[in-house]
Amino acid sequence: MILLLLAGAAIFPACAETTIRVPLANGFDLPVGKPDGEGYYVFRGYYPGGHLGEDWNGSRGGDTDLGDPVWSAGDGVVVFSEDYLRGWGNVVIVRHAYVDENGRVALMDSLYGHLDQRMVRKYQQVKRGQQLGTIGTAHGKYAAHLHFEMRKNIRIGMARGAYDQGYSNYFSPRQFIAARRTLRSGANVAVPVDTFSAPPDSSTDGSDGPPKPPALTRDSGRPGVPVPVPAPARPPRTPSGAVPVPEPGPAPARNATATADSNSQAIADREARLKKLIEENRKKVDSMKDDELDGFWSRLRKKLDEKR
Ligand SMILES: [Zn+2]
Repeated sequence: MILLLLAGAAIFPACAETTIRVPLANGFDLPVGKPDGEGYYVFRGYYPGGHLGEDWNGSRGGDTDLGDPVWSAGDGVVVFSEDYLRGWGNVVIVRHAYVDENGRVALMDSLYGHLDQRMVRKYQQVKRGQQLGTIGTAHGKYAAHLHFEMRKNIRIGMARGAYDQGYSNYFSPRQFIAARRTLRSGANVAVPVDTFSAPPDSSTDGSDGPPKPPALTRDSGRPGVPVPVPAPARPPRTPSGAVPVPEPGPAPARNATATADSNSQAIADREARLKKLIEENRKKVDSMKDDELDGFWSRLRKKLDEKR
């Protein structure tokens, strides 16, 4: 009995914490192209200690996926929804309760990063497939894509550097989802909602204030943990500090560069070559650290442009 209590305490760390009752997840779907990810591909996968999630890109290439809907992977409750520093952009974290392979109730977090818009607020209950926001660029820092993480550890929040970055704390998202498309559900579970060990700096929420010292550097000692993806030939939309606050509102104008036919043909060609290069280099890319990746992509881009 004592052991059971201890185990319970480990899963639900502080009984005094605020809890919100959520239905057990009846399964999980991919967060773009719901439910199966149709029309999107993983440009870069989860890699322990290197890249802690998956980067999802639209198959149409370039920034054509900017503003596309991002869906909740499963039933749950929003435990974080903020515009969090330039490297991250808008971030939503959803907490899920589900029955694990041993028949026990487990908790996990799914994180949706670089969003253009957020459509949910903290403590809001969300359904599987409910829209959380839209694909963005982290305020022009990257080509549009979704950075998607799934965590076993519900204390990580935005302090990834404070925790081991391997499988003890993270899932490989596609593997996790593929194994849990349909789950036993029907019950409600009280889940703690304020569990992050390091409280996020909420002063950046909804403000255009000066860039903060990057928390990622402080936490992980490795700047630029959010991943640069190969950018199409297109500058960031706005310079630092002049970024419009992406609150829910009219969708941004979609990719004006793609309106001219010749332009879109050139972009499509470039994307096709890029995809081929990604496939050819996939192993290398997946095993790279973030700081190595920067140089790698600039070399790759150069190579690509030389072929034009
Ligand atoms: Zn990423």
